[in-house]
Amino acid sequence: MSYLVLARKYRPQRFQEIIGQEHIVTTLKNALKSGKIWHAYIFSGTRGTGKTSTARIFAKAVNCLSPTADFEPCNKCKNCIEITQGDSLDVIEIDAASNRGIDEIRSLRESVKYVPVSCKYKVYIIDEAHQITEAAFNAFLKTLEEPPSYVIFILATTEFNALPTTIVSRCQVFQFRPITKNIIFDRLKFVVSQEGKTDKITDDALQLIADTASGSVRDALSLLDQILALTEIHSKVDSKLLRQIWGFTPNEVLEKYVELILNSEIKPILDFVEEIYTSGIDFIQLSKDLLEFFHKLLYLKSTNKVETTYNLEKFKDKFSTTHIIAYIQQLLQLVNEIKYTEFPKLVFEIYSVKLTKQYLEINEIIKNLGMYEEKQKIEKETDNIKTISEEKLKKEQVLTEKTQQTQTTEDKSIESVWEEILEKIRLEKPLSYPILMQSKLCFYDDTLRLFLPNKYVKTMIEQHNLNLEKILENKLNKKVKVIYDVLPKENIVLGEDQPPPNIPEGVKPIIIQPKKPKITPEIEKFCKAFSGKIISSQNDKN
Ligand SMILES: [Zn+2]
Repeated sequence: MSYLVLARKYRPQRFQEIIGQEHIVTTLKNALKSGKIWHAYIFSGTRGTGKTSTARIFAKAVNCLSPTADFEPCNKCKNCIEITQGDSLDVIEIDAASNRGIDEIRSLRESVKYVPVSCKYKVYIIDEAHQITEAAFNAFLKTLEEPPSYVIFILATTEFNALPTTIVSRCQVFQFRPITKNIIFDRLKFVVSQEGKTDKITDDALQLIADTASGSVRDALSLLDQILALTEIHSKVDSKLLRQIWGFTPNEVLEKYVELILNSEIKPILDFVEEIYTSGIDFIQLSKDLLEFFHKLLYLKSTNKVETTYNLEKFKDKFSTTHIIAYIQQLLQLVNEIKYTEFPKLVFEIYSVKLTKQYLEINEIIKNLGMYEEKQKIEKETDNIKTISEEKLKKEQVLTEKTQQTQTTEDKSIESVWEEILEKIRLEKPLSYPILMQSKLCFYDDTLRLFLPNKYVKTMIEQHNLNLEKILENKLNKKVKVIYDVLPKENIVLGEDQPPPNIPEGVKPIIIQPKKPKITPEIEKFCKAFSGKIISSQNDKN
């Protein structure tokens, strides 16, 4: 006897055997109960969710000669048997993928005119209905608008949005849900027990099949077909064996890798990558499996429950949600990048170093954020105190201003004046600010010599008309000559590498080095952790 594949052998024959689509089964049964049968239905949903099976059961239910009390087909009468075997002349299955043109639809329109041979209803099940051409749909529309009373159309599709609205508006639409992993697992367990193989296939193997089938019972049963064949040569099939056969990364490899990330040391993880490489594990698959690992871990953190073959509990408290999300983002990039590279090992190594370093960096950031929040709280409290003493402060300010007016501006150093000028430029001439901020200065004999990195920048700053001489005169209360100059070489430090050029002999100038943006260690860590860089800094005074 030839082997009947599981998906066919266990194809549901009654509504109650349809899994995961209770909402649809109930509505269809209610229609049968009330006798209000539509002439056109759309069954929409991803593959393997039971669309065609439900269509066939419905075709039997409307034509069954002795349906059960709850409107199930009897599966015993002549009509039921013929439909189940695919021999009925009144239940016609059309694959629209290969019959999509106007000619096929015309012949369908012709055949609709003939009354059923032995059934009450003539049922047309059109699979992959979205493949029908626009012209053919137009030709079909008329039949759909005024079908003979004995005709039912069921359009099954995986791409509901590809159907014309003119068609959709004339049909009752059922949306089939993807089958959850738990339901698939239960179904697999049932089939395995029916096949008498419960002792040969472990639950974690079935769990892995359910994970891999992505919502399709048919795919899950096809995988189970392969595994039943394996039980002939292996005394027991478990997830470890399956991972090996399907080329998945063994769980212990994944878990060790993740442990090494937690250790935050670069050398051990690179040694381990070398070990992985020599053992022949595929880096592309490994990257995908790591992504899946952290995806499951995120589920566990968020819902406290997840079906998996990984030992996640061990890692649950060691990673924060922030860690996991950052890792998932990195791993998504890795999975994308590693597909196209000629150097998968190198790419994997780079990401391994990143992931390892990131663990500590994120820890640090979280710690600092905690401190930052604390600081904010204290500052808020201080603010309240400030408001009380504000009036007192104001009085003091008036006093200080008066004193300042009497003071000579001679006391002001060129350094502090330059700070004030930079601030003024920042607000009034924002384009010049970054140039001036990074330029080097010499001040001697009432002369300010500004050294710019090159001629181009010099011309640019001259065109900006900064009126520096006037500003300096106001600030220092004396005339100052401003000279724009160019450094003989970029990036030299005046006064250290060499004495400033073009300065009269015997003169000791005051040198002002370029102002650097203020970068705190926290900001530096942030930049590293998120692979960013500082473009500008708004608050580099004080
Ligand atoms: Zn029957």
